Amino acid sequence: MKNEHSQITDIFGINVFNDSVMRQRLPKTAYKQFVAIRKGQGDFNINIADVIANAMKDWALEKGATHFCHWFQPMTGLTAEKHDSFISPTPDGKTIMEFSGKLLVQGEPDASSFPSGGLRATFEARGYTAWDCTSPVFVKGKTLYIPCAFCSYTGEALDKKTPLLRSMEALSKHAVRVLKALGESDVQSVTSTLGPEQEYFLIDRDFYEKRLDLVLAGRTLFGAPSPRGQEMDDHYFGTLHERIAAYMNDVNTELWKLGVSATTQHNEVSPAQYEIAPVFATVNVATDHNQLTMETLEKIALRHNFVCLLHEKPFAGVNGSGKHNNWSLVTDTGNNLLDPGTTPHDNMVFLVFLCAVIRAVDKYATLLRASVANTGNEHRLGANEAPPAIVSVFLGDQLNDILEQLAAGGAKSSRKGGDLKLGISTLPALPKDCTDRNRTSPFAFTGNRFEFRMVGSKQSCSGPSFVINSIVADVLSEIAGALEKARDVRKEAQKLLKKIAKDHQRVIFNGDNYADAWVVEAEKRGLPNIRSSVESIETIMDKQNVDLFKKLKVLTKQELHARTEILLEGYAASINIEALTTLNIAKRQIMPACVEYSGRLASSMSIVADSGVKCSSMQKSLKKVCGLIDELASGIESLEAAVSKAQGISKPNTQARAYRDAVIPAMSSVREAADLLEALVDADLWPLPSYAEMLFLK
Ligand code: ADP
Ligand code: MG
Repeated sequence: MKNEHSQITDIFGINVFNDSVMRQRLPKTAYKQFVAIRKGQGDFNINIADVIANAMKDWALEKGATHFCHWFQPMTGLTAEKHDSFISPTPDGKTIMEFSGKLLVQGEPDASSFPSGGLRATFEARGYTAWDCTSPVFVKGKTLYIPCAFCSYTGEALDKKTPLLRSMEALSKHAVRVLKALGESDVQSVTSTLGPEQEYFLIDRDFYEKRLDLVLAGRTLFGAPSPRGQEMDDHYFGTLHERIAAYMNDVNTELWKLGVSATTQHNEVSPAQYEIAPVFATVNVATDHNQLTMETLEKIALRHNFVCLLHEKPFAGVNGSGKHNNWSLVTDTGNNLLDPGTTPHDNMVFLVFLCAVIRAVDKYATLLRASVANTGNEHRLGANEAPPAIVSVFLGDQLNDILEQLAAGGAKSSRKGGDLKLGISTLPALPKDCTDRNRTSPFAFTGNRFEFRMVGSKQSCSGPSFVINSIVADVLSEIAGALEKARDVRKEAQKLLKKIAKDHQRVIFNGDNYADAWVVEAEKRGLPNIRSSVESIETIMDKQNVDLFKKLKVLTKQELHARTEILLEGYAASINIEALTTLNIAKRQIMPACVEYSGRLASSMSIVADSGVKCSSMQKSLKKVCGLIDELASGIESLEAAVSKAQGISKPNTQARAYRDAVIPAMSSVREAADLLEALVDADLWPLPSYAEMLFLK
């Protein structure tokens, strides 16, 4: 029997038309041409596309595929696909399987039914998909998937991938300029890398199906707290339950076949919460892979009679889910530009890139914040389980010390880690990192990369990634400009580092980001703290951001404006769904149960009274239940009024504000009364599975 190890290497990437398959199946010259195109050093022509398409089709047919699809990422944050078969009829009434270069490189989905933020009217339907040849095609089920960008007839980006690819080019261009100026002349390109840690919940499918709120809104809109929550700290990294381990195993197998290098898995802090992380990859590929990961987590869950919840806050009172986006920069010569080495104080390349990131994060803090603004994340940021809405950078002792030295004139030394001795002769001495970790920081340096921890669990990685790429590219272009002009490059670099270290000291925070004291301190430092998603989205069109994206050719003003509208409309639409679902459940499930229960109480009371016994506690209970029923009823009325008022508003930001200011509080009142009732009403009558059942029963 084969061992586990060789089984993994056997299946890894078997459904991917990757480099080794291409080398095998393409004529040598075509392969070479394609590699050049993929590096941005050649143009696509139809002949090469035909050759590749044909080889792809033969390979896909061998894998059992019958269809192909252009797989793209519209602004819903999800993926989209329309399948066409390889079938091509012949004049003699038969069919052959065909796939042309034209079909490979370009598709034409109807663009009018995707969110466009006003870029497209419903009648202006034409849109195009274009093959992103830097992310490999793969077979899933019976279909060949072709990762694509998606734009309108007039060329505006209508998707999440286009700005990401554009930001990668901008970043590479300016990073290379900086490296060349610093004497690293062999570097041709720089790519950003991403390793997204993905959190999720798993609950039993039976419970899920009894909760319309989970089905329609992705989170519980009702639910009294479970007597047990996460206070025992016993779930994080706990032993994997057998049913969960079997699920994770299936998820991994499926992902490995698709070339997704799923590697880390563990229980997370909240009961029923888990995490999966891949080995990092180029940012656009990692983004595609994260979409596949989310989809696979959901799909495989059903096979195991679970449902996977990717919402940022499925349950009140326990931690929600995020995505930790580990981000770095690597040269085509294989050098991680954020690797400090053993003596970071004299590693000029590292210091320049480190300082570029620090300046970028401080300069564009509100944009970074806006890249994670959505309704789900609003429950997390600043709620003592996730970083606050204040953007700050954690550097740790060693780099903090170096930054202080830089600000004072120049860095002369680096602190060392040393060994950790546990005083037990049979245990090894542990090499100690030169810096501790900080789990509360939104933007933490973690040894050779930054970890952006504010990202929501169900968000596409694209938005936060193209923002980080762009803001860093912008600062690198400033630095490159100064270095290219300088007579003494090292001196100029020292001057720039000193200035950045001084100017942006305020964004460095190595303490506890969850503490209230930090909110006060951050305000003193003048750091923005934008709690509300709506207000955060409203900052996107600030001139500084418009200029940034325009200069780097990542997004035009119109494209950026469209995205802002989509975010605001998405905010309003999702709160609207939550509100209508709240009303539906409150009126049709919770109220009837409560009425039934009060009736039962009342009749029991009168039977007891008839027997000559007076029971005051029953009377008290009945009064309490009826009082809460009244509260629930008036809450329902207020929520109905607030929703219909909000629905009537046409201006996207006014409407989003109405949902935030009037609808959300009204929803909370309904929930408050209902949750109190849940604690009183006969459990057999209660129509919804409880928090305790959902979070603890496997
Ligand atoms: P943590 O200890 O922060 O929970 P994990 O091991 O769960 O870390 O995840 C760390 C993630 O960071 C992995 O996806 C890993 O591949 C990724 N990572 C490591 N190095 C880099 C890098 N240079 N660029 C981007 N991501 C990286
Ligand atoms: Mg982790």
